[in-house]
Amino acid sequence: MRKTKIICTIGPATSSYPMLEKMTAAGMDIVRLNMSHGDHESAANVIRSIKTLNRKVTYPVAILMDTQGPEIRTGDLTNELELKNGSIISISVRDSVDVEQSSFHIHYADLIDTVSVGDRITVDNGIINLEVLHKRENGMMDCRVIDGGILKSKRHVNLPGIRVNLPAITKKDRADILFALEQQVDFIALSFVREAADVVELRELMGEKSRKIKIIAKIEDQSGVENLEEILKEADGIMVARGDLGVEINVALLPNLQRRIVQLCAESGKRVIVATHLLESMIENPIPTRAEVTDVANAIYEEVDAIMLSGETTIGKFPVRCVEQLVEIAEATESVRGLEFSKKLDRTEDKQQLAITAVHLAESLQSKGIVVITRRGLMADYVTNCHPQHTRIFAFTNDSQTRRRLMLNRNLSPFRTAFSNDPEKTLQTAFDVLKLRTSLVAGDKVVVISDILAGSGIDAIQIREIP
Ligand code: PEP
Repeated sequence: MRKTKIICTIGPATSSYPMLEKMTAAGMDIVRLNMSHGDHESAANVIRSIKTLNRKVTYPVAILMDTQGPEIRTGDLTNELELKNGSIISISVRDSVDVEQSSFHIHYADLIDTVSVGDRITVDNGIINLEVLHKRENGMMDCRVIDGGILKSKRHVNLPGIRVNLPAITKKDRADILFALEQQVDFIALSFVREAADVVELRELMGEKSRKIKIIAKIEDQSGVENLEEILKEADGIMVARGDLGVEINVALLPNLQRRIVQLCAESGKRVIVATHLLESMIENPIPTRAEVTDVANAIYEEVDAIMLSGETTIGKFPVRCVEQLVEIAEATESVRGLEFSKKLDRTEDKQQLAITAVHLAESLQSKGIVVITRRGLMADYVTNCHPQHTRIFAFTNDSQTRRRLMLNRNLSPFRTAFSNDPEKTLQTAFDVLKLRTSLVAGDKVVVISDILAGSGIDAIQIREIP
């Protein structure tokens, strides 16, 4: 059984019900709705389809909404603009200024005050690079084209190393977040988290709902990297957003940084997602490059919770094959032991210590599973934090939303069952589900961890044989 979870960004190539069905059958665990593209109506349609689909699948597909964040884009162009190396181009921050043959808009009013002569402006994810030459008085500035290319409308703009003077949660994000709460999504990924206060602001906006809907902080620029430890304390998980990160910092530093973020998440018992460019070449081609396969395998060796596809599944020609490819790589790679994460786990809560004990017990008994009976998923998180190497985690909850959000946890299969006042009955139901839905059979040994066993909210561990 695969341990690493697969997140797929949904777009024109995958938003229809039959495609969502195929993607789920192929191994998709979580859908990502990227609010940089698409509106509430298209997002609501996908959510509706997933909720329908979830009524007939063994494991539900969870829903992650990703905010646009303080993102800067170029304006609309009637015709594509060819930017030649070495040429001089004008940039306007005001829509009212007529763009000429050799100029275009960037939608960020403070751009000219924010950058200095000599700074780099990167367009279209690093493909086009400009150097600021001269700032004018009239909301315009001149730049030299360092790396040219064809500029299309609404391209992404990065200002590497420069702090952008835009709020962490924009007006659009606010509306999208309220929409996400209404739609009861399972995760909200906050783009361009620069400091812990950004996450706190989101948690406050979410109110009570932030107890159930988990917050994923996207690390995508220098400030986010610098404040990583503080951000981790506030967020439920981190996304290594390699698309922007690879432009905002020196791309050669990205592998070390990914490793450090994954390690920090493991130490602090937080979920971690590695995102972007996993199978980029499969947007066009039916097979990945060898380097892409190795990159995916490396994330799996690092024992991340999930890996995430973007363009591959939004506009790619082979979205289902991409999922199948990730499944194949995961299954082939996971048999190799990863880093010794549980030893580095730096959490001292009693529940965490108990989970460590349960995992040690399960591994040394070579049991077939760790069964967690959990209402809000907390004990399931503690067990996940231990990164069991040989034992699968089976979580049973009486709450559908908890079940869905546990889909992100590495090596964990969540089920929903009714809980009885009699703990033994709850356990018997869980064993029946295991026999029905998994490869476990009567006689298999499992370790059970829960606060229902003692019948009084006291956490306890049992070694049991499936009847
Ligand atoms: C990324 O930059 O890798 C990412 C996932 O963010 P977005 O797709 O929102 O730019």
